[in-house]
Amino acid sequence: MNPNSSPLTDLLRHGYTPGQDAVVDAYGRQFTYLRVSVTDHCNLRCVYCMPEEGVPWLPRDELLTFEEIVTVIEAAAACGVYKIRLTGGEPLVRKGIEKLTEMVARVPGITDLAMTTNGIMLGEYAPKLAAAGLKRINISLDTLDPEKFKAIARRGQIGDVLGGIRAAAAAGLAPIKINMVVLGGLNDTEVAEFAALTLDRPIEMRFIEYMPLEEAKGCAMGSGNFAFIPNDVTKTRIAERFGALEPLEVGDNMKGPAEVWKIKGAAGRLGFISAMSAPFCKACDRLRLTCVGEVRSCLLDGGGVEIKSILRGGGKCADLIAAFRNAAHLKPEVHKAWDEIPAANMSRIGG
Ligand code: SAM
Ligand code: SF4
Repeated sequence: MNPNSSPLTDLLRHGYTPGQDAVVDAYGRQFTYLRVSVTDHCNLRCVYCMPEEGVPWLPRDELLTFEEIVTVIEAAAACGVYKIRLTGGEPLVRKGIEKLTEMVARVPGITDLAMTTNGIMLGEYAPKLAAAGLKRINISLDTLDPEKFKAIARRGQIGDVLGGIRAAAAAGLAPIKINMVVLGGLNDTEVAEFAALTLDRPIEMRFIEYMPLEEAKGCAMGSGNFAFIPNDVTKTRIAERFGALEPLEVGDNMKGPAEVWKIKGAAGRLGFISAMSAPFCKACDRLRLTCVGEVRSCLLDGGGVEIKSILRGGGKCADLIAAFRNAAHLKPEVHKAWDEIPAANMSRIGG
């Protein structure tokens, strides 16, 4: 693909309307959301995601360049995608991430640009990202206890993440969502304490069920150092402390896989992401771009469609759109059950 000509600009020149080529799968789900893994590298080693020694990092030239990522996003915008989330691995360890953010923010048709980060480097990056056009941010934090942080993340300092959350708020990134993967025997006793953070802060606290992906599968089922906690247990524990939770209707920019509730009178809200106990596949409108240039329609199932050869082999925007359609075709109605989930690497695919 010619890096000097934008596929979307080329299409617009021929009277094309962004979104006219909607990608719809066999079950009628239209894709409007692309999650982009910008790197497989990470500065933490969360027990549910990576082994302590890390995974073999991919060579630099295997990762998509910023220009290639933006080309894919332009083609996606042409198909009606308007939401982008930059993730990884840890997106902030990709050098120049603020530059990529700015390039993505400029793509016509992209109106919702978000990021998921572990927050370690956010103190430095939050103002740069906000200035580059990032709108909102999800920050992962699994515990409020410094010792448990060492046990779960195995690298980094909890103080940096807390500073990163403050920096994101100061930079005007909103809403801020905090992601907690609930792990039995490790952090499950803290769910009410996390929920209490929403009492006087306009944040969304999201309780995520652990998903058995590759290394994580070994952690939970092999060495058995934590147990799966379904979200109805988490919700009950929170309600025992704060009383019956109130269900919420959410606006479009807050819609997602989370079932959203709030504690009566709280400033913030509670999101429950129950991928294993109550899959939200029926409403799933997302495609994923892996850091090596594969398009996937499901994190836990289906295959990927390789597009790096299109990007590096002189392909056209129409070839990318065809690849999106092929990926959509691979999307299952509902993802596989626990034991059948194929080996997959969260940090490469993008969580
Ligand atoms: N490094 C960034 C971070 O941790 O926020 C972005 C990538 S991470 C793969 C994205 C999200 O996936 C994080 O909120 C993380 O907690 C979650 N995650 C990773 N492995 C998971 C697993 N096995 N089950 C459920 N969530 C997981
Ligand atoms: Fe890194 Fe995020 Fe995986 Fe933790 S969950 S190891 S921070 S990619």
